[in-house]
Amino acid sequence: MDELRLCGRQARPRTAVPVGPLSFGESFVVIAGPCSVESEAQLMAAARAVKEAGAHALRGGAFKPRTSPYSFQGLGLAALKILDKARRETGLPIVTEVLDPRDVPWVSEFADMIQIGARNSQNFSLLREAGRGPRPVLLKRGMFSTLNEWLSSAEYILSAGNPNVVLCERGIRTFEAYTRNTLDLSAVPAVRELSHLPVIVDPSHGTGRASLIESMSLAATAAGADGLMIETHPHPEQALSDGDQSLSPAGFGVLMRKIRVLRGCWEGLA
Ligand code: PEP
Ligand code: MN
Repeated sequence: MDELRLCGRQARPRTAVPVGPLSFGESFVVIAGPCSVESEAQLMAAARAVKEAGAHALRGGAFKPRTSPYSFQGLGLAALKILDKARRETGLPIVTEVLDPRDVPWVSEFADMIQIGARNSQNFSLLREAGRGPRPVLLKRGMFSTLNEWLSSAEYILSAGNPNVVLCERGIRTFEAYTRNTLDLSAVPAVRELSHLPVIVDPSHGTGRASLIESMSLAATAAGADGLMIETHPHPEQALSDGDQSLSPAGFGVLMRKIRVLRGCWEGLA
């Protein structure tokens, strides 16, 4: 392990990360919403559905890191304005990804939490800029990152002055091709041994398959995750990105009911 002066467990036992009215690490937080903001109608429908089902925060990409330059890249500023409207209507805090260090300051005016994605998890200038920014950061694990590399990325943000980092396990690339990635649920208790930062799980990118999200969400909850990030779309089959790994509003509703039951047992044990 490299030196984890600030995010290591020796620094403190646990951290609570405030995001709007939420506190990651103190209560279980479910972030839900579409991979990308595609239109006002799509995002508002998603926002109302996830709010109704009990989600705590709304996600939606305005800048999308796509493998092909010809795939949908996101609506940029227009998407941020739509997210802002959804926040005003639902009260849900907004989580959205930043790809470019130059965008951190102005996107921070719209977002309650800035996401740094898997592909950028070792973009050190982006990490430093987010570390100088005012917003809490959701730091995804890189698809090729060890726990040491991932936590060292968090250390970049903390050492630049921003103590508010939430880690997100989203699967790593292995030889297995049936799933998009291999969701490393052992990362949850391992990170909790190594760091005081909250850790959540994204089974959408972790598996790439909507059919696997519910079981992996329940497993992540049982493993001690501080929350979940679930891609949810009003019409997954029409999604411009990641439809195969997005739940419908009905599927998300079922998942939230099961999570509440499991959390009830978990709290009973604690
Ligand atoms: C996303 O959350 O839509 C995303 C691109 O995630 P990741 O960076 O984990 O692939
Ligand atoms: Mn996605």
